Amino acid sequence: MKIVYTQECLNFYKKGHPESPQRVRKAAEFLRNKGYDFVVPDMCREEDLLRVHDKSLVKRVKRGSFSSVDCPDYENIYYYARLSAGGAIKAADINGFSLMRPPGHHATTDNVGGFCYFNSISVAVSSVVGRVLIVDIDRHHGNGTEDIFRGSDHVEYISLHGPGYPGTGTESYDNCHNHVFRNRTSEEEYLEVLDTMLKGKEDFDILAVSAGFDTHEEDPLGSQIDLSTEFYRTVGKRLGELEIPTFCVLEGGYSPGNMGKSIHQFIKGLGSSPKAL
Ligand SMILES: [Zn+2]
Repeated sequence: MKIVYTQECLNFYKKGHPESPQRVRKAAEFLRNKGYDFVVPDMCREEDLLRVHDKSLVKRVKRGSFSSVDCPDYENIYYYARLSAGGAIKAADINGFSLMRPPGHHATTDNVGGFCYFNSISVAVSSVVGRVLIVDIDRHHGNGTEDIFRGSDHVEYISLHGPGYPGTGTESYDNCHNHVFRNRTSEEEYLEVLDTMLKGKEDFDILAVSAGFDTHEEDPLGSQIDLSTEFYRTVGKRLGELEIPTFCVLEGGYSPGNMGKSIHQFIKGLGSSPKAL
């Protein structure tokens, strides 16, 4: 699996903000040293954004006229958020892993939120032909992705997450299947739930993974779910066993020292079933 990345995505930051450049910079370094091939993304077009977002949101991000405590109005964020969405589109094109920031799964049709400006995975999913299964393994519910695809007949959304932010994902709907781990979760329990949720999902044309690593045991934002680095290999393997062509988009993960290792384990797991890649 190739890594979609450009170091341009490191060019915006705010001191003390957990969604920092080094979480991605260190992961990129680690994966490069492991011998992964890297591919540079193109910025997505405005019309790509408009397939999933309101015109008013696109305008507001362009002007920096939005207000969210989590989403600073960084200079040129419109450019970086489009570049990150372009990374997701590239990952969809080549069955790759987009290692870009800002993340996207909290951005709804008409709003920024949770460090997200545009919903990159949704932009990519809306660019492909066929039925898509989105599996969101970030520690937080992808409220934006659910908002965008709820009721869609060509996309199903599965999310495993902990309680708390953003407070959604407590129930399931027709094409959106949510599970909240309410107590401290063991890896056995995580796997049991994952297996149950993936049952019967082999018939999709494409698998899109919202790959968040804030479920890691050392993640500062990841309470309630404490997965080990090695466990991501098992999660990847289970997804790979669906034998659906797959692409991945980085979401959260705030422990810079562990990100690269966790991503590597995850991709190794996926790759144990060659049909996924
Ligand atoms: Zn998260």
